[in-house]
Amino acid sequence: MLKDYYAILDVSQNASLAEIKQQYQRLLLIHHPDKQLQQQTVPINGTAGLKLIPLQDIKEAWECLREPNHRAFYDSSLQATRLHANGQVHDDIDLDDMDFDEEAGSYTSPCRCSGEYIILEDELELGVDTVVCSTCSLIVRIHYEAADDDEDDDTN
Ligand SMILES: [Zn+2]
Repeated sequence: MLKDYYAILDVSQNASLAEIKQQYQRLLLIHHPDKQLQQQTVPINGTAGLKLIPLQDIKEAWECLREPNHRAFYDSSLQATRLHANGQVHDDIDLDDMDFDEEAGSYTSPCRCSGEYIILEDELELGVDTVVCSTCSLIVRIHYEAADDDEDDDTN
């Protein structure tokens, strides 16, 4: 699962690099291993109300967000994850309109960004019907008939 680096650093997704850096340095001080040792002697529901964040997560978040390219890519991944969770879709496509690759057992459809929507037969069998573009963050819902619904014989 995708980690929410903004939540880890406790900054807004619109925060500037300077703000993120400031917060990163603040967290480094708070969650420094020496201090974590002290905090571990405090009960988990201690009075401090401070949530322990692994230093590794803080560093990982900063390493990602400090690079504009990484941040942009991360933002779109995060967006896709959220959209998916909210069930928001950009478009509806019919499975019959997708290209079937027999070897891979996958159906593909081009996205307007030149990326592709790819769904595997296995996924269809599991009832998966939303796909995130391989390149951008758009999501499509794929319409197909259940395997046991045999009313039309429109086979290729
Ligand atoms: Zn796309």
